[in-house]
Amino acid sequence: MEGIVCVRAPNPGPFTLEGTNTWVVGTGPTLVIDPGPDDPGHIDAVGRAASPIEAILLTHHHADHRAGAALLAARAGAPVHAAAPRQGENSLLPGHAFTAGGVRLEVVGAPGHSKDHVVFFDPASGSLFTGDAVLGRGTSVIDPPDGDLRDYLDSLDRMRALGARTIFPGHGPVVPDADGKLREYIEHRRFRERQILAGLERGPRTPDDLVPLIYGDYPGGLHQAAARSVLAHLIKLEADGAVRRDGDRFRRDRSRHERGKASTQTSEDDPEART
Ligand SMILES: [Zn+2]
Repeated sequence: MEGIVCVRAPNPGPFTLEGTNTWVVGTGPTLVIDPGPDDPGHIDAVGRAASPIEAILLTHHHADHRAGAALLAARAGAPVHAAAPRQGENSLLPGHAFTAGGVRLEVVGAPGHSKDHVVFFDPASGSLFTGDAVLGRGTSVIDPPDGDLRDYLDSLDRMRALGARTIFPGHGPVVPDADGKLREYIEHRRFRERQILAGLERGPRTPDDLVPLIYGDYPGGLHQAAARSVLAHLIKLEADGAVRRDGDRFRRDRSRHERGKASTQTSEDDPEART
């Protein structure tokens, strides 16, 4: 798309996919979203693609998005704006907007992957820059306690309500059907929730117990991350009143449900009954 350039950082991995996407937005003075890792070659490339830089914007504090911000800021003489600013950075809040090079980006709160996560939306073109809130491929990691699945589902709804056309993610390819991807993400989490509730039907389980039931033949190296994701779901279900924590295990909690539905007959075995 015109006025949007991706400079991909050389930090590929299981969670960063092909590497971090640094987005350069606008023509003339530019806005840089997520400078990426502290890699001098990458920061050089961003500087060449983006100069002159009006402002450097961060979606969240994770190192693969932020670590190069100080070097880029020093070289370009541009300010850094972050929702959780460090010394020398400026704060950025949902509702703020940044204008440069013919583009106006609005800040939209999108906590869930991390508490401080925001996304940037250009209403004129329908472009949504999502950091790690939505990836070009696969799903976002929700790792408690900084990651919060309830917040995340609210953020997905908030992003849908923007009516975005195209998603420019922090990792992976551009997503041409923004609404389709957001719907897919919401449905994916609902599906996982049903799986987890079904996995608790035979008694209390730890997140680790549930991983093989839910993720089956996932590569072993990702099992730890999978267990964190299951934990994120269990914490949400606990807040919903659908499960109860029992030491390091979780069990179905029907007491609140039964109180709420005292006069109606519901199937105890139907995990769908309480979604
Ligand atoms: Zn990332």
